[in-house]
Amino acid sequence: MSNSRGRFGQHGGQYMPETLMNAVIELEEAYNHYKDDPEFNRELTELFNEYAGRPSRLYYAEKLTKELGGAKIYLKREDLNHTGSHKINNVLGQALLAKKMGKTRLIAETGAGQHGVATATAAALLDMECVVFMGEEDTKRQALNVYRMKLLGSEVIPVKTGTATLKDAVSEAMREWTNRIDDTHYCLGSVMGPHPFPTIVRDFQAVISREIKQQMLEKEGRLPDVVMACVGGGSNAMGTFYNFIEDKDVRLIGCEAAGRGVDTFETAATIATGRLGIFHGMKSYFCQDKYGQIAPVYSISAGLDYPGIGPEHAWLHDIGRAEYVPVTDDEAVNAFEFLSRVEGIIPAIESSHAVAHAMKIAPTMDKDKIIVITVSGRGDKDCAAIARYRGEEIYE
Ligand SMILES: *Cc1c(COP(=O)(O)O)cnc(C)c1O
Repeated sequence: MSNSRGRFGQHGGQYMPETLMNAVIELEEAYNHYKDDPEFNRELTELFNEYAGRPSRLYYAEKLTKELGGAKIYLKREDLNHTGSHKINNVLGQALLAKKMGKTRLIAETGAGQHGVATATAAALLDMECVVFMGEEDTKRQALNVYRMKLLGSEVIPVKTGTATLKDAVSEAMREWTNRIDDTHYCLGSVMGPHPFPTIVRDFQAVISREIKQQMLEKEGRLPDVVMACVGGGSNAMGTFYNFIEDKDVRLIGCEAAGRGVDTFETAATIATGRLGIFHGMKSYFCQDKYGQIAPVYSISAGLDYPGIGPEHAWLHDIGRAEYVPVTDDEAVNAFEFLSRVEGIIPAIESSHAVAHAMKIAPTMDKDKIIVITVSGRGDKDCAAIARYRGEEIYE
């Protein structure tokens, strides 16, 4: 889907300082070598299956379907993976690749902590050193995940620059990589950043749509009508879409975090409110102020709280192949509670954005239509925040 320069239409590319060009070129060459290497793929499949618990279930949500009274709904259960989200797919791939490249140290950025915990986990398993950069604000909001990363043997560095959140953690990890490329791999957590990251992360996450396709053919004997997922940087959505891009009858829907609404300043919906720009090594759409500076973004969901979107999504939007819709905090919280009550499945607040949009469209569709929602992670981590949102007290 991308040409050799990592372009997706006008998006993507490698907008890097000279000092990092060698690192991204080394990574690109290694990836091109290993991606078709049978031994590499055998080892990765073994990690996926034996360690992460793949394939993840494609679950027919019969009660949810009945409650909504329209299209048949399946849930792709990435929440059941080891460490509780889709992040582990990409991390196991990159950690194994880094090991093959002779790197002994992983660095990563993290927002809510899911990617940091997944990276710390892979580092523990593969005997690598690990340093995670996390906005100081996020280290306070997600203290339990900071503890987890340390327990797994990683160092966590609070980032105090800028708004002290996810985008600053990415900037700091890139800076650190510049200082130390010899023994260090930067394990980037989404389909963003300079080429080859958007392609590498997408390929490792594409296991999601590969499995959906096979499971759907086994269960229904046909492809779904809609596949949908939430979009932060866009890795679980890209993984969900990828193997359906050529199947033009399958609608692809990405659900962005609208926060308090796309007509307010407290939003993180990039396609709805962003403009073309260059940031973190890539050309894509970004939330910007009137001077073109990256705007502070907001969502109740720390995992969707990023001011940009991966370049392949920006391109799928430009050519009209995928649709992107904004979903507010309120709608996501309602969906979080609804799926918990109806199916006994507590989804991550990120994933709840996709569930919320399914709750809008499923009732408008015929009963013989099929929707697949990717549940990108489990919601245990979000219970305290949602309780607070509802004005309840709980003790962690
Ligand atoms: C990190 C995260 C996301 C957002 O990241 P994408 O790259 O857009 O997938 C969504 N859901 C969960 C559970 C996450 O941990």
